[in-house]
Amino acid sequence: MSIRNEITQKIEPVVVSKVTLPLQISTYYGENTFSEMTMQKMISEETYRAFKRWQEEGTIITKAQADEIALVMKEWSMSKGATSYTHWFQPMTGLTAEKHDAFISLGHDGNVIEKFTGSKLIQGEPDASSFPSGGIRATFEARGYTAWDPSSPAFITEVDSGKILCIPSIFISYTGDALDKKLPLLRSDAALSKACLELLRLFGYTDVKNVIPTCGPEQEYFLIDEAYYRMRPDLVLAGRTLIGAVSPKGQQLEDQYFGTIKERVLNYMHAVAEEAYRLGIPVTTRHNEVAPHQFEFAPIFERSNLAADHNQLLMDIMKKVAHRHGLVCLLHEKPFAGVNGSGKHLNWSVADDKGNNLLNPGDTPEENLLFLTVLSAVIHAVYHHSDLLRASVASAGNEHRLGANEAPPAIVSIYLGEQLTKIVNMIENGKMEKATRQDLVDLGVKLLPRFTRDTTDRNRTSPFAFTGAKFEFRALGSSMNISTAIAVVNTIVADSVGIITGRIKSGISSGSDFNATVMKVLSGIIKESRAILFEGNNYSEEWAKEAQKRGLPNVASSAEALKAFIKPKAVELFEKHGVFSRVELQSRYTVWLEMYEKVMEIEARTLAEMVNTQILPQAYEYQSDMAGGLEILKNLIDSGTLKLVDGAIDDRKEVLTKLSADIYYIRKNIKEMEKILNNAHSMDLEARAAYFFSDLKPHMEHVRRHVDALEDTMPDSIWLLPKYREMLFIS
Ligand code: ADP
Ligand code: MG
Repeated sequence: MSIRNEITQKIEPVVVSKVTLPLQISTYYGENTFSEMTMQKMISEETYRAFKRWQEEGTIITKAQADEIALVMKEWSMSKGATSYTHWFQPMTGLTAEKHDAFISLGHDGNVIEKFTGSKLIQGEPDASSFPSGGIRATFEARGYTAWDPSSPAFITEVDSGKILCIPSIFISYTGDALDKKLPLLRSDAALSKACLELLRLFGYTDVKNVIPTCGPEQEYFLIDEAYYRMRPDLVLAGRTLIGAVSPKGQQLEDQYFGTIKERVLNYMHAVAEEAYRLGIPVTTRHNEVAPHQFEFAPIFERSNLAADHNQLLMDIMKKVAHRHGLVCLLHEKPFAGVNGSGKHLNWSVADDKGNNLLNPGDTPEENLLFLTVLSAVIHAVYHHSDLLRASVASAGNEHRLGANEAPPAIVSIYLGEQLTKIVNMIENGKMEKATRQDLVDLGVKLLPRFTRDTTDRNRTSPFAFTGAKFEFRALGSSMNISTAIAVVNTIVADSVGIITGRIKSGISSGSDFNATVMKVLSGIIKESRAILFEGNNYSEEWAKEAQKRGLPNVASSAEALKAFIKPKAVELFEKHGVFSRVELQSRYTVWLEMYEKVMEIEARTLAEMVNTQILPQAYEYQSDMAGGLEILKNLIDSGTLKLVDGAIDDRKEVLTKLSADIYYIRKNIKEMEKILNNAHSMDLEARAAYFFSDLKPHMEHVRRHVDALEDTMPDSIWLLPKYREMLFIS
């Protein structure tokens, strides 16, 4: 028996101790977070008010107040068993970073005391030089600072041997530039709020103080047994299979989606959810996804900033818990060729500070008018900045999904659904332009409420779909940090809201009726942005042609897509709204392009190593066995000992010929890959990334095709790598 077969025999679930009466979630929800309520109980009223002012208006608290909060935060976390703390932040790589410091200080007499001060709470100074800055920092000013983000509660993470207080933070350079994912997100929240407030004022909602983007990211993932994972260098180093023949049974029977969840997986899901609840992460939905061994977690939506922190934490928890269950959670966008990849649908909307969703059609005509205005702003924003949306989801991993007929295409378009499309058409055609109050009542009462809960005619192929009372941006990759995508959506919508507000203002200043003016402005907005609306099948070839005619961008390459961030139009937009400076955009472009190009190189080198050390040696062995067998047969025939049917020898030769051809092409392409990697060294970053996309990737695909052909024909007993049919079906 091969090692592979031995392992497959031994696969079995980790034993989970039986819980007879599970705790009700509400009894422990959020117990590992230092919630505002907990804090409020522990600090003076004055300090709490100052803290709220900081959150809402940005006026920072005093040193004494910070000390007061630090003290109670330390007490609270020590009572939970924490012995150290860390500023927890999200560098541009999109991962999370932490640097732990113990709570201790030395007293005069050398004794140790637990101490944590306001200044340590508010600011940290990790050695920033190893985080990518994309050129923001010269090495002589490599310092970077982390600063407490008071809008996201501190929390405690635990391992078996200890607990750590984590303080959500932003990460900035010495010169104040954002070195992370979070600061731009917070700035974009503010920009959107500002723009929406102005619009709301115009509509007469004068008591609203703040507008908040809300997000609910649906997280897809694969689970496989850890034993398989360890045997696959590609999964370990690249997070995806670089070779691997498609299993005869994949997802054709559609028997996985929403199917009964296997017990082993369900145990895992329970454990993940429990840990998430302790941290106040509201995951609710869990189900099987389309591909075998693919699943999804979806949370209740939250403020964008919290949603982003929580998604990062959830991904960490998913990986950690999987390990405890003898499983590996694969968050890569395309771990297995031939079955669906994993994405992260970003549900996005905006609400006022009382929780009213601005993308929810209301009960009154006025509310519906506001809804239509915000809706039009999103349409306008996506039309004018679809290149930025595309760029916000560009990564080496996601490149395998976008446009691969399973995920949204690289062309961004908006789906509204039948009823809303009708209304939008009416507005565009000016039918509503002279809207009387009665027209608005008709529009509101007769048409709008009906689709509010209508979720029947979903268009799963659309990258940006209106689904009820929110938009769903479906092009994000499963492993992505969602902050950049949110920051882009917030900023472009803020800009369009601003444009619409301006047009309405100038309309009414010339004395026109308010409702009629709004309708006229919206008509213009929709006319201008109409090309982005598409209700059909986004996977079809006709759409690609049609989109081209409409002038919509269709960028397959991530490296190319990323360029949108440094176009003058983007720089102007982001600087206008104070979300990214030119320098920050340039640095992100550089960092993300580097990540793309490094991932490609790692994958190529991993593939070459696997082929050279695990595939070819076995193939050569089989080749010589085959050749030897053929030789023996021929001798037997020649000596008259054996008589075979016509064609039997030729058939044997055919197998050997095919085998030898596959080996030859594998070698040929591997050699090409090596040449490309060598050539690439002397190129600049942009050229290298483009070269990898145009030349390296196709060669890797060729290698894969021929290796997969070997896997389908070589003896099972000498094939070293776990196969799809094992990884995806035996657990
Ligand atoms: P669907 O059936 O459209 O997927 P769900 O209600 O199950 O709708 O929501 C899917 C995701 O969308 C969930 O994560 C949910 O929290 C999120 N969501 C719902 N409403 C909003 C909203 N107003 N803003 C942001 N996200 C939302
Ligand atoms: Mg979904």
